[in-house]
Amino acid sequence: MNKATIADLAPAQLAGRRALVRVDFNVPLDADRRVTDDTRLRAALPTIEALRAQGAKVVLLSHLGRPKGAPEAKYSLEPVVGRLRELMPGVDVGFCPTTDDDAAVAASITLADGAVLLMENTRFLPGEEANDDALAQRLARLGDVYVNDAFGAAHRAHASTAAVARHLRPAVAGLLMQKELDYLGGALDAPKRPFVAVLGGSKISGKIDVIEALLPKVDALLVGGAMACTFYAAMGLETGKSLVEPDRVAMAKELIERAGTALILPHDALIAPAIDRPQDARVVRKDGIPGDQAMFDIGPDTAASYARAIHSARTVLWNGPMGVFETPGFDKGTQAIAMAMATATGKGATTIVGGGDSAAAVAGMGLDHSMSHVSTGGGASLEFLEGKALPGVAALDDRARA
Ligand code: ADP
Ligand code: MG
Repeated sequence: MNKATIADLAPAQLAGRRALVRVDFNVPLDADRRVTDDTRLRAALPTIEALRAQGAKVVLLSHLGRPKGAPEAKYSLEPVVGRLRELMPGVDVGFCPTTDDDAAVAASITLADGAVLLMENTRFLPGEEANDDALAQRLARLGDVYVNDAFGAAHRAHASTAAVARHLRPAVAGLLMQKELDYLGGALDAPKRPFVAVLGGSKISGKIDVIEALLPKVDALLVGGAMACTFYAAMGLETGKSLVEPDRVAMAKELIERAGTALILPHDALIAPAIDRPQDARVVRKDGIPGDQAMFDIGPDTAASYARAIHSARTVLWNGPMGVFETPGFDKGTQAIAMAMATATGKGATTIVGGGDSAAAVAGMGLDHSMSHVSTGGGASLEFLEGKALPGVAALDDRARA
Protein backbone atom coordinates (compact mmCIF):
# COMPACT_ATOMS: atom_id res chain seq x y z
CA MET A 1 0.00 0.00 0.00
CA ASN A 2 1.32 3.45 -0.87
CA LYS A 3 -0.40 5.25 2.00
CA ALA A 4 1.09 5.84 5.43
CA THR A 5 -0.36 3.76 8.27
CA ILE A 6 -0.24 3.97 12.05
CA ALA A 7 2.89 1.80 11.87
CA ASP A 8 4.64 4.75 10.18
CA LEU A 9 4.00 7.07 13.14
CA ALA A 10 6.80 7.73 15.60
CA PRO A 11 6.05 6.82 19.24
CA ALA A 12 6.31 10.51 20.19
CA GLN A 13 3.47 11.30 17.78
CA LEU A 14 1.15 9.09 19.84
CA ALA A 15 2.29 8.96 23.47
CA GLY A 16 0.03 11.24 25.49
CA ARG A 17 -1.45 12.69 22.30
CA ARG A 18 -4.92 12.54 20.78
CA ALA A 19 -5.54 10.22 17.84
CA LEU A 20 -8.69 11.27 16.00
CA VAL A 21 -9.91 8.03 14.45
CA ARG A 22 -12.68 7.88 11.84
CA VAL A 23 -14.29 4.47 12.31
CA ASP A 24 -17.29 2.85 10.64
CA PHE A 25 -19.65 2.17 13.53
CA ASN A 26 -22.69 2.21 11.24
CA VAL A 27 -24.08 -0.89 12.94
CA PRO A 28 -27.62 -2.28 12.88
CA LEU A 29 -29.71 -1.59 16.01
CA ASP A 30 -32.96 -3.29 17.06
CA ALA A 31 -36.13 -1.56 18.33
CA ASP A 32 -34.62 -1.38 21.82
CA ARG A 33 -31.52 0.27 20.33
CA ARG A 34 -29.32 -2.72 21.00
CA VAL A 35 -26.51 -3.54 18.58
CA THR A 36 -27.60 -6.65 16.66
CA ASP A 37 -24.33 -7.13 14.75
CA ASP A 38 -21.08 -5.86 16.24
CA THR A 39 -18.83 -6.97 13.37
CA ARG A 40 -17.86 -3.38 12.55
CA LEU A 41 -17.07 -2.59 16.18
CA ARG A 42 -14.83 -5.62 16.49
CA ALA A 43 -13.16 -4.80 13.19
CA ALA A 44 -12.03 -1.45 14.62
CA LEU A 45 -10.55 -2.91 17.82
CA PRO A 46 -7.04 -3.69 16.50
CA THR A 47 -6.48 -0.06 15.56
CA ILE A 48 -7.92 1.26 18.82
CA GLU A 49 -5.77 -1.18 20.79
CA ALA A 50 -2.62 -0.37 18.83
CA LEU A 51 -3.10 3.34 19.52
CA ARG A 52 -3.83 2.76 23.21
CA ALA A 53 -0.77 0.55 23.50
CA GLN A 54 1.31 3.58 22.42
CA GLY A 55 -0.30 5.71 25.11
CA ALA A 56 -2.61 7.68 22.82
CA LYS A 57 -5.96 9.17 23.81
CA VAL A 58 -8.41 7.75 21.27
CA VAL A 59 -11.18 10.02 19.93
CA LEU A 60 -13.62 8.17 17.68
CA LEU A 61 -15.75 9.69 14.91
CA SER A 62 -18.43 7.74 13.05
CA HIS A 63 -21.71 8.12 11.26
CA LEU A 64 -24.78 5.98 11.96
CA GLY A 65 -27.66 5.67 9.53
CA ARG A 66 -28.85 8.51 7.37
CA PRO A 67 -29.88 11.50 9.50
CA LYS A 68 -30.21 14.65 7.44
CA GLY A 69 -27.59 16.96 8.91
CA ALA A 70 -29.42 17.43 12.22
CA PRO A 71 -29.67 15.45 15.48
CA GLU A 72 -32.26 12.66 15.49
CA ALA A 73 -32.56 10.51 18.61
CA LYS A 74 -32.92 7.27 16.69
CA TYR A 75 -29.54 7.79 15.05
CA SER A 76 -27.59 8.62 18.22
CA LEU A 77 -24.37 6.65 18.63
CA GLU A 78 -24.85 6.55 22.40
CA PRO A 79 -26.25 2.96 22.46
CA VAL A 80 -23.13 1.77 20.67
CA VAL A 81 -20.92 2.77 23.61
CA GLY A 82 -22.37 0.04 25.82
CA ARG A 83 -21.39 -2.66 23.36
CA LEU A 84 -17.99 -1.09 22.86
CA ARG A 85 -17.39 -1.19 26.62
CA GLU A 86 -18.26 -4.90 26.66
CA LEU A 87 -15.75 -5.49 23.87
CA MET A 88 -13.01 -3.55 25.71
CA PRO A 89 -13.23 -4.66 29.34
CA GLY A 90 -11.21 -2.54 31.73
CA VAL A 91 -10.88 0.32 29.25
CA ASP A 92 -12.25 3.79 30.00
CA VAL A 93 -14.74 4.21 27.14
CA GLY A 94 -16.85 7.37 27.15
CA PHE A 95 -19.43 9.07 24.98
CA CYS A 96 -19.55 12.74 24.01
CA PRO A 97 -23.08 13.99 23.14
CA THR A 98 -21.67 16.59 20.77
CA THR A 99 -19.18 16.27 17.96
CA ASP A 100 -17.49 19.50 16.89
CA ASP A 101 -18.14 22.16 19.55
CA ASP A 102 -15.87 23.55 22.27
CA ALA A 103 -17.22 21.05 24.80
CA ALA A 104 -16.19 18.21 22.50
CA VAL A 105 -12.70 19.65 22.12
CA ALA A 106 -12.43 20.08 25.91
CA ALA A 107 -13.53 16.47 26.42
CA SER A 108 -10.85 15.27 24.02
CA ILE A 109 -8.16 17.27 25.82
CA THR A 110 -9.07 16.02 29.30
CA LEU A 111 -9.02 12.35 28.22
CA ALA A 112 -6.58 10.15 30.11
CA ASP A 113 -3.86 8.40 28.13
CA GLY A 114 -5.31 5.14 26.80
CA ALA A 115 -8.91 6.28 27.25
CA VAL A 116 -11.46 6.11 24.43
CA LEU A 117 -14.15 8.69 23.63
CA LEU A 118 -16.86 8.17 21.01
CA MET A 119 -18.27 11.40 19.63
CA GLU A 120 -21.91 11.79 18.54
CA ASN A 121 -22.92 10.95 14.94
CA THR A 122 -21.00 12.99 12.36
CA ARG A 123 -24.09 13.08 10.13
CA PHE A 124 -25.88 15.20 12.73
CA LEU A 125 -23.64 18.01 11.46
CA PRO A 126 -24.67 20.06 8.46
CA GLY A 127 -21.60 20.06 6.29
CA GLU A 128 -20.51 16.49 6.93
CA GLU A 129 -21.88 15.07 3.70
CA ALA A 130 -20.96 18.26 1.80
CA ASN A 131 -17.31 17.75 2.81
CA ASP A 132 -17.47 21.26 4.28
CA ASP A 133 -14.09 22.79 5.00
CA ALA A 134 -15.14 24.84 8.03
CA LEU A 135 -16.59 21.73 9.66
CA ALA A 136 -13.43 19.79 8.82
CA GLN A 137 -11.42 22.50 10.55
CA ARG A 138 -13.55 22.16 13.70
CA LEU A 139 -13.24 18.36 13.65
CA ALA A 140 -9.47 18.66 13.27
CA ARG A 141 -9.33 20.34 16.70
CA LEU A 142 -10.30 16.98 18.25
CA GLY A 143 -6.96 15.34 17.54
CA ASP A 144 -3.22 15.66 17.12
CA VAL A 145 -3.04 12.96 14.44
CA TYR A 146 -5.76 11.68 12.12
CA VAL A 147 -6.36 8.00 11.48
CA ASN A 148 -8.91 6.77 8.96
CA ASP A 149 -10.03 3.20 9.70
CA ALA A 150 -13.49 3.55 8.13
CA PHE A 151 -13.01 1.59 4.94
CA GLY A 152 -16.80 1.23 4.64
CA ALA A 153 -17.12 5.02 4.36
CA ALA A 154 -13.96 5.65 2.33
CA HIS A 155 -15.87 5.99 -0.95
CA ARG A 156 -17.59 9.11 0.42
CA ALA A 157 -15.90 12.51 0.38
CA HIS A 158 -17.28 13.74 3.69
CA ALA A 159 -15.84 16.21 6.19
CA SER A 160 -14.87 13.44 8.63
CA THR A 161 -13.41 11.16 5.94
CA ALA A 162 -11.77 13.56 3.51
CA ALA A 163 -11.61 17.32 4.25
CA VAL A 164 -10.50 16.78 7.86
CA ALA A 165 -7.17 15.45 6.60
CA ARG A 166 -6.42 18.87 5.06
CA HIS A 167 -6.27 20.30 8.57
CA LEU A 168 -4.82 17.48 10.61
CA ARG A 169 -1.49 15.89 9.76
CA PRO A 170 -0.15 13.31 9.90
CA ALA A 171 -3.16 11.60 8.34
CA VAL A 172 -2.72 7.84 8.12
CA ALA A 173 -4.62 4.60 7.52
CA GLY A 174 -5.70 2.40 10.42
CA LEU A 175 -5.09 -1.34 10.50
CA LEU A 176 -8.52 -2.29 9.13
CA MET A 177 -8.19 0.20 6.29
CA GLN A 178 -4.73 -1.17 5.57
CA LYS A 179 -5.97 -4.78 5.58
CA GLU A 180 -8.84 -3.97 3.23
CA LEU A 181 -6.58 -2.14 0.78
CA ASP A 182 -3.88 -4.80 0.97
CA TYR A 183 -6.29 -7.64 0.18
CA LEU A 184 -8.42 -5.92 -2.43
CA GLY A 185 -5.46 -4.09 -3.97
CA GLY A 186 -3.33 -7.22 -3.92
CA ALA A 187 -5.98 -9.17 -5.82
CA LEU A 188 -6.20 -6.49 -8.49
CA ASP A 189 -2.53 -5.65 -8.85
CA ALA A 190 -0.66 -8.89 -8.33
CA PRO A 191 -3.03 -11.86 -7.98
CA LYS A 192 -1.67 -15.35 -7.55
CA ARG A 193 -3.00 -17.26 -10.55
CA PRO A 194 -5.35 -18.71 -11.47
CA PHE A 195 -7.43 -15.70 -10.38
CA VAL A 196 -11.15 -16.47 -10.31
CA ALA A 197 -13.85 -13.88 -9.64
CA VAL A 198 -17.39 -14.87 -8.71
CA LEU A 199 -20.07 -12.24 -9.27
CA GLY A 200 -23.74 -12.42 -8.41
CA GLY A 201 -26.46 -10.47 -6.67
CA SER A 202 -29.65 -8.95 -7.84
CA LYS A 203 -28.78 -6.34 -10.40
CA ILE A 204 -26.27 -6.21 -13.18
CA SER A 205 -26.62 -2.42 -13.34
CA GLY A 206 -24.74 -1.86 -10.08
CA LYS A 207 -21.91 -4.16 -11.10
CA ILE A 208 -21.21 -3.42 -14.75
CA ASP A 209 -18.17 -1.33 -13.94
CA VAL A 210 -16.83 -4.13 -11.74
CA ILE A 211 -17.29 -6.67 -14.52
CA GLU A 212 -15.53 -4.34 -16.96
CA ALA A 213 -12.66 -3.71 -14.56
CA LEU A 214 -12.21 -7.37 -13.58
CA LEU A 215 -12.50 -9.02 -16.99
CA PRO A 216 -9.01 -8.07 -18.20
CA LYS A 217 -7.47 -9.20 -14.90
CA VAL A 218 -9.13 -12.53 -14.13
CA ASP A 219 -8.62 -15.98 -15.57
CA ALA A 220 -12.34 -16.68 -15.14
CA LEU A 221 -15.36 -14.65 -14.11
CA LEU A 222 -18.16 -16.89 -12.85
CA VAL A 223 -21.60 -15.29 -12.98
CA GLY A 224 -24.60 -16.12 -10.80
CA GLY A 225 -27.54 -14.39 -9.18
CA ALA A 226 -30.24 -12.56 -11.08
CA MET A 227 -27.45 -10.93 -13.06
CA ALA A 228 -27.13 -14.18 -14.97
CA CYS A 229 -30.69 -13.77 -16.28
CA THR A 230 -29.87 -10.48 -17.99
CA PHE A 231 -27.01 -12.29 -19.73
CA TYR A 232 -29.42 -15.10 -20.68
CA ALA A 233 -31.77 -12.52 -22.19
CA ALA A 234 -28.83 -11.14 -24.14
CA MET A 235 -28.25 -14.64 -25.52
CA GLY A 236 -31.86 -14.76 -26.68
CA LEU A 237 -32.88 -17.32 -24.06
CA GLU A 238 -36.31 -17.39 -22.42
CA THR A 239 -36.02 -15.98 -18.87
CA GLY A 240 -39.67 -16.28 -17.82
CA LYS A 241 -40.47 -14.23 -14.74
CA SER A 242 -36.82 -13.94 -13.69
CA LEU A 243 -35.42 -10.61 -12.59
CA VAL A 244 -34.05 -9.16 -15.84
CA GLU A 245 -33.00 -5.57 -16.48
CA PRO A 246 -34.27 -4.94 -20.02
CA ASP A 247 -32.29 -1.72 -20.40
CA ARG A 248 -29.05 -3.61 -19.76
CA VAL A 249 -29.54 -6.44 -22.23
CA ALA A 250 -27.69 -4.72 -25.07
CA MET A 251 -24.76 -4.02 -22.82
CA ALA A 252 -24.74 -7.60 -21.54
CA LYS A 253 -24.61 -8.79 -25.14
CA GLU A 254 -21.68 -6.54 -25.87
CA LEU A 255 -19.88 -7.83 -22.75
CA ILE A 256 -20.39 -11.46 -23.78
CA GLU A 257 -18.92 -10.74 -27.20
CA ARG A 258 -15.94 -8.92 -25.77
CA ALA A 259 -15.22 -11.25 -22.85
CA GLY A 260 -14.58 -14.40 -24.83
CA THR A 261 -14.10 -17.51 -22.73
CA ALA A 262 -13.37 -15.73 -19.43
CA LEU A 263 -17.02 -14.90 -18.78
CA ILE A 264 -18.80 -18.04 -17.57
CA LEU A 265 -22.57 -18.24 -17.16
CA PRO A 266 -24.57 -20.87 -15.27
CA HIS A 267 -25.56 -23.79 -17.49
CA ASP A 268 -28.39 -24.94 -15.26
CA ALA A 269 -30.88 -23.05 -13.14
CA LEU A 270 -33.09 -23.64 -10.11
CA ILE A 271 -36.50 -22.29 -11.02
CA ALA A 272 -39.83 -21.90 -9.21
CA PRO A 273 -43.20 -20.29 -9.96
CA ALA A 274 -42.63 -17.60 -7.29
CA ILE A 275 -40.12 -16.50 -4.68
CA ASP A 276 -42.33 -17.85 -1.86
CA ARG A 277 -42.61 -21.32 -3.41
CA PRO A 278 -39.18 -22.95 -2.91
CA GLN A 279 -41.00 -26.26 -2.32
CA ASP A 280 -42.03 -26.20 -6.00
CA ALA A 281 -38.50 -25.59 -7.25
CA ARG A 282 -36.92 -27.72 -9.95
CA VAL A 283 -33.76 -27.78 -12.00
CA VAL A 284 -33.68 -27.00 -15.71
CA ARG A 285 -30.98 -26.36 -18.29
CA LYS A 286 -30.36 -22.73 -19.10
CA ASP A 287 -32.46 -23.00 -22.27
CA GLY A 288 -35.35 -24.64 -20.44
CA ILE A 289 -36.81 -21.84 -18.29
CA PRO A 290 -40.58 -21.79 -18.94
CA GLY A 291 -42.37 -18.48 -19.36
CA ASP A 292 -44.26 -18.78 -16.08
CA GLN A 293 -41.23 -19.55 -13.87
CA ALA A 294 -38.27 -17.59 -12.53
CA MET A 295 -34.66 -18.48 -11.79
CA PHE A 296 -33.91 -18.15 -8.08
CA ASP A 297 -30.55 -19.92 -7.85
CA ILE A 298 -27.85 -21.46 -10.00
CA GLY A 299 -28.40 -25.17 -10.63
CA PRO A 300 -26.45 -28.01 -8.97
CA ASP A 301 -24.25 -28.76 -12.02
CA THR A 302 -23.23 -25.13 -12.21
CA ALA A 303 -22.57 -25.03 -8.46
CA ALA A 304 -20.34 -28.10 -8.79
CA SER A 305 -18.38 -26.74 -11.73
CA TYR A 306 -17.96 -23.33 -10.07
CA ALA A 307 -16.71 -25.13 -6.95
CA ARG A 308 -14.14 -27.03 -9.05
CA ALA A 309 -12.90 -23.78 -10.58
CA ILE A 310 -12.59 -22.26 -7.11
CA HIS A 311 -10.76 -25.30 -5.73
CA SER A 312 -8.04 -24.95 -8.37
CA ALA A 313 -7.73 -21.15 -8.06
CA ARG A 314 -5.05 -19.38 -6.06
CA THR A 315 -6.93 -16.09 -5.76
CA VAL A 316 -10.73 -15.98 -5.42
CA LEU A 317 -12.74 -12.78 -5.22
CA TRP A 318 -16.48 -13.11 -4.56
CA ASN A 319 -19.15 -10.44 -4.68
CA GLY A 320 -22.87 -11.14 -4.74
CA PRO A 321 -24.93 -14.22 -3.80
CA MET A 322 -25.68 -16.87 -6.42
CA GLY A 323 -29.38 -16.88 -5.63
CA VAL A 324 -32.06 -15.70 -3.22
CA PHE A 325 -29.98 -17.06 -0.35
CA GLU A 326 -32.31 -15.54 2.27
CA THR A 327 -34.89 -18.20 1.33
CA PRO A 328 -34.07 -21.79 2.36
CA GLY A 329 -34.20 -23.83 -0.80
CA PHE A 330 -32.72 -21.03 -2.93
CA ASP A 331 -29.49 -20.90 -0.90
CA LYS A 332 -27.61 -23.96 -2.20
CA GLY A 333 -25.60 -22.18 -4.90
CA THR A 334 -24.45 -19.48 -2.50
CA GLN A 335 -23.53 -22.14 0.07
CA ALA A 336 -21.55 -24.07 -2.52
CA ILE A 337 -19.46 -20.99 -3.35
CA ALA A 338 -18.81 -20.25 0.33
CA MET A 339 -17.80 -23.84 1.05
CA ALA A 340 -15.58 -24.06 -2.03
CA MET A 341 -13.86 -20.86 -0.99
CA ALA A 342 -13.29 -22.20 2.52
CA THR A 343 -11.68 -25.29 0.96
CA ALA A 344 -9.54 -23.11 -1.29
CA THR A 345 -8.39 -21.09 1.73
CA GLY A 346 -7.29 -24.32 3.36
CA LYS A 347 -5.26 -25.15 0.26
CA GLY A 348 -3.41 -21.85 0.49
CA ALA A 349 -5.45 -19.68 -1.86
CA THR A 350 -6.20 -16.06 -1.05
CA THR A 351 -9.98 -15.79 -0.71
CA ILE A 352 -11.77 -12.45 -0.49
CA VAL A 353 -15.46 -11.74 0.03
CA GLY A 354 -16.84 -8.29 -0.76
CA GLY A 355 -20.44 -7.09 -0.61
CA GLY A 356 -22.79 -6.81 2.33
CA ASP A 357 -25.12 -9.66 1.40
CA SER A 358 -22.32 -12.03 0.44
CA ALA A 359 -20.57 -11.28 3.74
CA ALA A 360 -23.85 -11.94 5.60
CA ALA A 361 -24.26 -15.26 3.79
CA VAL A 362 -20.74 -16.32 4.73
CA ALA A 363 -21.19 -15.24 8.35
CA GLY A 364 -24.54 -17.06 8.49
CA MET A 365 -22.76 -20.26 7.57
CA GLY A 366 -20.07 -19.64 10.18
CA LEU A 367 -17.44 -19.55 7.44
CA ASP A 368 -16.24 -15.96 7.85
CA HIS A 369 -13.09 -17.16 9.60
CA SER A 370 -12.43 -19.59 6.76
CA MET A 371 -11.85 -16.74 4.30
CA SER A 372 -8.60 -14.81 3.96
CA HIS A 373 -10.57 -11.60 4.13
CA VAL A 374 -14.22 -10.56 4.39
CA SER A 375 -14.55 -6.92 3.48
CA THR A 376 -16.40 -4.63 5.88
CA GLY A 377 -17.33 -2.22 3.10
CA GLY A 378 -19.95 -3.15 0.51
CA GLY A 379 -20.11 0.04 -1.54
CA ALA A 380 -16.50 0.96 -0.88
CA SER A 381 -15.22 -2.45 -1.98
CA LEU A 382 -17.26 -2.25 -5.19
CA GLU A 383 -15.90 1.20 -6.04
CA PHE A 384 -12.38 0.04 -5.27
CA LEU A 385 -12.81 -2.99 -7.54
CA GLU A 386 -14.11 -0.67 -10.25
CA GLY A 387 -10.71 1.00 -10.10
CA LYS A 388 -12.00 4.26 -8.64
CA ALA A 389 -9.92 6.27 -6.18
CA LEU A 390 -11.57 6.32 -2.75
CA PRO A 391 -11.66 9.91 -1.39
CA GLY A 392 -11.08 8.72 2.18
CA VAL A 393 -7.90 6.98 1.05
CA ALA A 394 -6.70 9.66 -1.36
CA ALA A 395 -6.82 12.20 1.50
CA LEU A 396 -4.21 10.31 3.54
CA ASP A 397 -0.46 10.92 3.56
CA ASP A 398 1.59 9.04 1.01
CA ARG A 399 4.04 6.63 2.53
CA ALA A 400 7.59 7.95 2.57
CA ARG A 401 9.83 5.89 0.30
CA ALA A 402 12.20 3.73 2.30
P1 ADP B 1 -23.90 -7.94 -2.22
O1 ADP B 1 -24.55 -7.14 -1.10
O2 ADP B 1 -23.16 -9.13 -1.71
O3 ADP B 1 -23.07 -7.06 -3.11
P2 ADP B 1 -26.24 -7.69 -3.89
O4 ADP B 1 -26.76 -6.63 -2.98
O5 ADP B 1 -25.77 -7.27 -5.22
O6 ADP B 1 -25.08 -8.51 -3.14
O7 ADP B 1 -27.36 -8.79 -4.13
C1 ADP B 1 -27.93 -9.51 -3.10
C2 ADP B 1 -29.37 -9.84 -3.40
O8 ADP B 1 -29.50 -10.47 -4.65
C3 ADP B 1 -29.95 -10.78 -2.37
O9 ADP B 1 -30.95 -10.11 -1.64
C4 ADP B 1 -30.52 -11.93 -3.20
O10 ADP B 1 -31.77 -12.38 -2.75
C5 ADP B 1 -30.63 -11.30 -4.58
N1 ADP B 1 -30.63 -12.31 -5.65
C6 ADP B 1 -29.64 -13.17 -5.95
N2 ADP B 1 -30.01 -13.98 -6.96
C7 ADP B 1 -31.28 -13.62 -7.30
C8 ADP B 1 -32.22 -14.09 -8.28
N3 ADP B 1 -31.91 -15.09 -9.11
N4 ADP B 1 -33.42 -13.46 -8.32
C9 ADP B 1 -33.72 -12.44 -7.49
N5 ADP B 1 -32.87 -11.96 -6.57
C10 ADP B 1 -31.67 -12.54 -6.47
MG1 MG C 1 -26.31 -5.87 -1.09
